[in-house]
Amino acid sequence: MSHDHSVEPSASDCAEFLDRIVYFIDNELDEADCSAVRVHLDSCNPCLEKYDLQRTVKSVVARSCAEVAPDELRQRVLFRIREVQVQIREG
Ligand SMILES: [Zn+2]
Repeated sequence: MSHDHSVEPSASDCAEFLDRIVYFIDNELDEADCSAVRVHLDSCNPCLEKYDLQRTVKSVVARSCAEVAPDELRQRVLFRIREVQVQIREG
């Protein structure tokens, strides 16, 4: 049995979805785009990880409006996001 790569999305797919994830989190996509993103997140771990990170950043930023977010935490989160972005683009 050969390993099954046929269901795995390609890197160019991911680049497109990564752009949409930001809007997805903000609920700025229409229904068709939303379900496309959901389907992709379901089958793509790097994008799912990115999605989780984006949500984390969003909640950190939202919190920082009320109180000052720890700079160190923000730096760490931003660093992780860049790491994942590089992984996805190079992978
Ligand atoms: Zn992906």
